[in-house]
Amino acid sequence: MTSIQTSRYDVVVVGGGVTGLGAATKAGWLGAKTLLVERHAFVGGMATAGMVSPFMKNDVGGETLTRGVFEALEEKMRDLNGMIDNGFSAAAFRSAAYGLLREAGADVLFGSAVTRVEREGETITALVLETPEGTERVEAKYFVDATGDAQVVYLAGLPFVKGDERTGKTQALTLFFRMGGVDVRRATDYAAAHPDDFMEWMDFDFDFNRILSIAGYYSFVKRATAAGKLSPNVKYIFYTTLPSSGEASFNTTNILDADGSTSSGLTRAAFDGRRQTRQVVDLLVGEIPGFENAELIETGAALGVRETRRAVGDYAMTGEDVRSARKFDDAVARGCYGVDIHGQSGEEDTMDDLPEGEYYEIPKRALFVKDARNLLAAGKCVSSTREGHAAIRVMPIAAATGEASGAIVGVANKRSVELRDAPYAEIREALKFNL
Ligand SMILES: Cc1cc2nc3c(=O)[nH]c(=O)nc-3n(C[C@H](O)[C@H](O)[C@H](O)COP(=O)(O)OP(=O)(O)OC[C@H]3O[C@@H](n4cnc5c(N)ncnc54)[C@H](O)[C@@H]3O)c2cc1C
Repeated sequence: MTSIQTSRYDVVVVGGGVTGLGAATKAGWLGAKTLLVERHAFVGGMATAGMVSPFMKNDVGGETLTRGVFEALEEKMRDLNGMIDNGFSAAAFRSAAYGLLREAGADVLFGSAVTRVEREGETITALVLETPEGTERVEAKYFVDATGDAQVVYLAGLPFVKGDERTGKTQALTLFFRMGGVDVRRATDYAAAHPDDFMEWMDFDFDFNRILSIAGYYSFVKRATAAGKLSPNVKYIFYTTLPSSGEASFNTTNILDADGSTSSGLTRAAFDGRRQTRQVVDLLVGEIPGFENAELIETGAALGVRETRRAVGDYAMTGEDVRSARKFDDAVARGCYGVDIHGQSGEEDTMDDLPEGEYYEIPKRALFVKDARNLLAAGKCVSSTREGHAAIRVMPIAAATGEASGAIVGVANKRSVELRDAPYAEIREALKFNL
């Protein structure tokens, strides 16, 4: 019988999205022997496989609330000519992220999914991975769940919540897609001439040196739906132009009643998302000015899953914390994005912005997982209510809670203490540019 190969680290981060990148890079910067485990063969998660772009703005009075790893990532993408304004290409994200991980000295294991968690009481002892070579184990002192789905929490049998507290509904899913050959000038001229057909927040004063966001085409959507040519779940067409001219990235499909943390939900959503994509592309090319010669380039390799499980932690970040711009004595990250819920069937879409110039903080306690001594949950997995999650899930804030988790494990490792005993003053010092 062959024995299962076991490796040992100070810190294992599971999930290579923007959160896991923040966590692994920071832990590496702080000198911890770190491993990042990712089931895909590349980093980025929603930011690359899901094709989600641009980064939501997270700044107040022109000052960013997210420096550190996130800012380093942005700088590297700009150096690669892969980022304009807050929009970026997936290829640039991947290259920049590899550079960061390499410089931080973090090991990376791609094509490896965590399928089982070993624990003794409240201590996680090892993760079991399915790799192309078979089953492997990895032991560590500290673990970070950056899987977006609180997979480690779930597999460890630790407490979690999913979706809305009362109904269990999770936010709608979206399959992103990208088109090329778009006549952006013609598309913007049309929008400027028909402002009533577009969303209220558009100002139609287009600057072609920046990322453009166009959302609406309500009359086209209405007609296509009435004619049975478009799913009634699609409410509007929303796209941003990518750095390369003539390309546009669509956050438009609206997939309801699918649980993104189950294989049956993901399968159904994949079929529905592709059907909706074809319908929207046909509508654009057939009827919408600027798209006459456009074509579909690609759809996201992964579905855009906004919400599934969240850890139950020592504190749950709430919608009220967000709306009241609450500050905490044990803050580890800051955000200013509001409560943004893409409604399921039977729900309305809601967006509660913070007043201009306000920001909230996310407490360290929200990263600690209940009943676990050496596991943190970051990014989409942070302990929160549905409303709290709906604000802090966006990429700069996910990167910031990821980096905060890296700081907590890094300080705990240096001091050889349990996570909850890592001195806050040192964690804060390691995150001072964000606080
Ligand atoms: C449709 C949509 C539109 C959005 N729009 C915006 C926007 O415009 N701007 C913005 O800033 N944010 C936006 N967001 C939010 C943002 O993209 C995500 O919340 C954020 O990227 C989450 O990052 P993450 O690293 O926490 O999770 P993910 O990006 O989901 O990464 C998790 C990673 O963990 C890996 N993983 C999972 N389970 C395992 C396992 N068992 N073993 C190994 N690896 C595993 C996954 O493969 C994945 O790579 C949007 C999200 C969606 C879905």
